[in-house]
Formats: sequence, structure tokens, C-alpha cells
Amino acid sequence: QQKVPEIKYVPTTCPFCGVGCGLNLVVKDGKVVGVEPWKRSPVNEGKLCPKGYGCYEFIHSPDRLTKPLIKKDGKFVEASWDEALDLVASKLKEVYGKYGPDALAFQVSCRVPNEECYLMNKLARVGFKTNNVDNCARICHGPSVAGLSLSLGSGAATNPFADLLNADCIFVIGSNAMEAHPLVGRRLIQAKEKGTTLIVADPRYTLTARKAHIYMRFNPSTVIPLINSMMYWIIKEGKADMEFIKNKTKDFEELKKTVEKYADVEALTGTPTELVKEIALKYASAKNAAIVYCLGITETTSGTDNVRSLANLAMLTGNIGRPGTGINPLRGQNNVQGACDMGAYPNVYSGYQKVELEENRKKMEQAWGVEGLPGNYGLTLMEQIDACGDRVKAMFMLGENPMISFPDINHVRECLSKLEFSVVEDIFLTETAQLADVVLPAACWAEKDGTFTSGERRVQRVRKAVDAPGEAKPDWEILSLLGQKLGLKGFDFKSAEEVFNDMARVTPQYGGMTYARLEKPEALVWPCPTADHPGTPILHTQKFATADGLGNFFGIDYKPPAEVPDEEYPFALMTGRLLFHYHSGTQTRRSKQLHNEVPTGFVEISEADAAELGIKKGDRVLLKSRRGEVETNALVTKDIPKGVLNMTFHFRECPANLLTNTARDPLSKMPELKYCAVSVEKV
Ligand code: SF4
Repeated sequence: QQKVPEIKYVPTTCPFCGVGCGLNLVVKDGKVVGVEPWKRSPVNEGKLCPKGYGCYEFIHSPDRLTKPLIKKDGKFVEASWDEALDLVASKLKEVYGKYGPDALAFQVSCRVPNEECYLMNKLARVGFKTNNVDNCARICHGPSVAGLSLSLGSGAATNPFADLLNADCIFVIGSNAMEAHPLVGRRLIQAKEKGTTLIVADPRYTLTARKAHIYMRFNPSTVIPLINSMMYWIIKEGKADMEFIKNKTKDFEELKKTVEKYADVEALTGTPTELVKEIALKYASAKNAAIVYCLGITETTSGTDNVRSLANLAMLTGNIGRPGTGINPLRGQNNVQGACDMGAYPNVYSGYQKVELEENRKKMEQAWGVEGLPGNYGLTLMEQIDACGDRVKAMFMLGENPMISFPDINHVRECLSKLEFSVVEDIFLTETAQLADVVLPAACWAEKDGTFTSGERRVQRVRKAVDAPGEAKPDWEILSLLGQKLGLKGFDFKSAEEVFNDMARVTPQYGGMTYARLEKPEALVWPCPTADHPGTPILHTQKFATADGLGNFFGIDYKPPAEVPDEEYPFALMTGRLLFHYHSGTQTRRSKQLHNEVPTGFVEISEADAAELGIKKGDRVLLKSRRGEVETNALVTKDIPKGVLNMTFHFRECPANLLTNTARDPLSKMPELKYCAVSVEKV
């Protein structure tokens, strides 16, 4: 009789976007052979997007790193774990001894589970007394953390995704959810089918815009005048919620005075005033209205101000703290929320406990059994890069690939080359890993336990389905072993669960969570401070999370982008993401089904510009900015306005970030990834 191979289904969480869909890894003979939606997950209700269905193919790629690598005479040679970790520990100690704590810098990816982000924060602070630790939310939703914290007291999404079905009106701005967060896109369609008015504002006529009842095009980087104008009309037409404003907010007069200057913004935004007014009144007149936004809001030098403008709009109309309302940033990577929650941030410990407050430092010193934690703000992600060779002499990068994902790649390469020592922990020999002195092979998400916190603050389990290849290890184990090599107390973890428990005891929002409580499909939504707390799906229901409980209005004026088109570089270049690919492409480009859909990159150009320049669909074109140049294919389209181009950054052979600008938002230090001046010509 033929033996039927045993098939195992391991429920876990999608490794890609911040929606956090539940899925089952299908395991046969010790290999992941497929993926099925986890039907019991309330997040995705038995559905997955193409990326989710393709998320397993890279796991058993022959390109996976299987042994530690040490660079000798410019070439990598395989090493034992002892040899590699001894070298890393001794080099980091040497730099620390020679130059002091802030000569070290630590970067961690938002793809990495909470346990490992927490340990990176602990390693930097306990091991080297530095706050130079940051995660890549800095260059996607850093402005959401900064802006929402300033306005509402908490830098997180206010309502769950499923709650969009309770809205009477949804205002989507700077988000192409149908491509970047398809299972939230599904919620938008479900809401529309139930009778919700769907408004989409975007410079491009995206897949999401196509689903809208009303589409509002605006010029790139003119969010503030657009939102100020909406608020002008809401106040003028008596649609502001004065009772909410009086009881729950402060500084309304400052806002009112500012928006009076923005009655007509058509010349700046390109949006007809009548349309701005119509949309403003639709949003304000709805019983419950929700805002959904994404990187079109945050990835600019006005990112924090853009987010605060949206918070102004929600508070002005009292649309916060109830079902069907709120402000919901869609997080790009699966654990953007968690990486920030875990204190992989240069100014806070886990749970947003500020390092500058002595009481917080004392608390952490006691919990971690150390003395002398620093109270200064550490360097943010891009500041760390700029400081390479100068203030920063050694860098530890966990899962980060700045040679594709950071702006101005030529600048990144030049900076990294000035380091005295660098370590990369990753699953593939990425463009960044190739520049490192030591590469540590990591287990991927299917090969380890842990938790991810999705964009709706839902803390969900990641479960080990198969063994890691060769000698690759989970990041939590690598960091624990390194801590032990450094002779640190509190790094003798035997499991991811032990790390989680260490974190939960010092992190108020996670204080009531355990792996046992996270077993149920709906998991838990933070804040969940005690063992009997059910979690908190909707924030700000009674009062805001600010010190005085009041929401803060800010009067915010328009500032142009750092670099605007001119005679030499006459086009504005926007950047974005595709349905079938994800970030620097290391994983999705190793999935046949995803790669076959979109095998390489392209630039979108309007029909009018293409005609003027003699460019046809598929022509090779050369784009140049003040920082670099890229050759790619042209995609001629009606969906983009004249004078604007759009690219993605997924493709190493034509990376948009050779062109992008490192100019930064002064508050969140977000670089201007979504807007720079370029030229384009047919090759
Ligand atoms: Fe994964 Fe996001 Fe797609 Fe869900 S929507 S399957 S989390 S990539």
C-alpha cells in the first residue's frame, strides 16, 4: 500500500504588509509546500492577496544563507558561530572602548518579530549604553508616530480595519490600499457595498481611486493646503462639531485662524475649489467618518505636519473615539507597529517610555540589572548613515537593506564604506550584506516563533513550521548568544516566549499578554495592561492619551517640497509599491508566481509628456536627478498627471532610490522619498 505523506498545517501570520492576515503554512516532509488562508483569522476571513499566496516560495531558496561569513582580504569565508560571534563581540567592544558608546549604531527591520526588535533595543542600551537604535518605520511611518502622538497622545491607528464597515463615509488619502494593503482594500469595497461613501484623494488615478464614489486628484506634496481648505469649508458652513471641540480638544482658535487663508487652493493643489468643498462637507456631514492614509502622507519633508492635518480634520468633525471613525495609517511592513512599540527607537524604551525621563531610566535599569542608561536622544536611521566614519564607527544591521530601500543609494554606499566595522544579520546575501565585515545567517519567519503587531495594534503569533537551513538561527537566539559573548546579564533566553515575557513585564501596553492568551485567532489588541484585560480595539473613547486628556489642534501652513522641478530636472518623481512585490524584492522576486506577474521595474509617464518626448510604451528611458541616474522601461498611462513620474523601489536593476532625496522632515526625520526633481529622456 502506498504511504500517504503526512501534511501539517501551521497557523501563523503573513510576513509582508501590516494588515497581518492569518495563514496556514502547508508543510510536507519538513518543507513548506504551500499556503492557505487561516479561515479562523478575523483579519482576513479566509482570504489572502497574491503576495500572501506567494509568501512561502523564498523559504527554501538555494540562495539562503546557511553559515556565518567573515570577510577576509575582501572575500567572504565561512566561519563557525563561535568564531563569528567572538569577532563581532570583540570588534563592538573595541569600538566602544576606543570611541565611546555613541560610536555604535543599531538598525532593525520592521519585518522582524517583536521579541527580536525588543532584544536589539536591549542590546544597544544594556550592552553599549547608547540610544543609537532605530527601525525602518523611520522611513515609512515615523511621521505617524510623531504626528499622532503630538495631536492625540498615541502614535497608533485608532480603529480596527473591520470597523471600516461601520463608517458612513471613508476618506482615503495618499493610500493605494488595493495594491499595497489588498485586504484593507477588500474592507473598503465591503463598506461601499453596504452603502458607505468612499472618497479617494491621490495624485494618481490608482486601483483604489477606481473604486471610489468620488476621486479627488491633487498635485503631489500639496496635502496641507488641501486639508486646510477642507477645514475652512467645514467651519464656514457650520459643520464643525463644536461640542466635541469644546469638551475634548484645545487650541481650536489657532487652527481656525490658519485655515482662513486656504479658502481657494486650486492654483496650488490643482483641485477645483467646488470639489474640495463638496468632499469636505460629505466627510463632515457623515454620522461616522473614518480616515485611511498611507505613505503618500508620510514620506515627505512635511510628513508630521500632514499627519497632524488629518488629526485636525478628524477632531474638527468629532470623528474619533467611536466605531466607524478614527485615523488609520496603513503600515507598510508586517511589524512596523511592533518595531516601534518594542523601543527600537532612539528616544523611547518599549511602550514609548521616554529615555529622557529619569523615572523611566531607573525603571529599566532595575528591570535589566544595569546602571547608567543614557538619557540623550540617539541618532535616527538616516542620521546614523550620515554619521558613518565620523561619529559612528561600527554598525549592526538586522534585516535592513539600505542599499535598496534608503534614499540616495550612492550616498548610503559611500557612508557605509567609511565604517570601521559592520555586521549584517539576514536571510540572503543582500546588497547591504555584501558590504559588511560579518554576515550572520538568520532563520526566516517560517522557521521561528514570535509575534507581529499589525497596523491595527493586533499582537499575533508567528509559529515555527520548519527548520532553518544549515546553521541559520532565529534572530532572538543570535542576539542572546551575542549578549552572552559580551558578558551581559539578562541575555540567557531559551525561547522566543521567554523574550516576550521579559518584554511584557516592562511594557505597559503589552503587560497583560502571554503566548497562551495570544493562542486564539483574534489574538489581543493593545493596550492590554493586565492579565484579565480584554484589549482595546478603539482608542480615545473617553479622552485622548495626551497628558491633559485633550486633543491638540495645530495651525499648520504649507511648505513646498525640499526640491522642486526646474529647467534641468523638470519632472516631479513619486515612488510607490506594487501589488506583486514587496520592498527590496529579496523575497517576492524569489517567488515564481509573483516574479512572473511583474519581472522588472518601470516608470509611469503621462500620455502628454510621452508624446512630447517621443516616448512609447516599453521604450528604454534614462532618469536623472542631482544624485544619480537609472535606466528603465517606460509605461505610458492616463493615470498620472502631466509633469509627474512614478516608480517603485523593488527592483535592484532599476532602483528608484538612486534618484530620491535625503532631505528630511524636521520633526520625524523622515526623508523625502515621495518627491524629487528628475529629468527623463529616451535612451
Ligand atoms: Fe499578506 Fe498584506 Fe496580503 Fe494580507 S494583505 S495577505 S498581510 S500582504
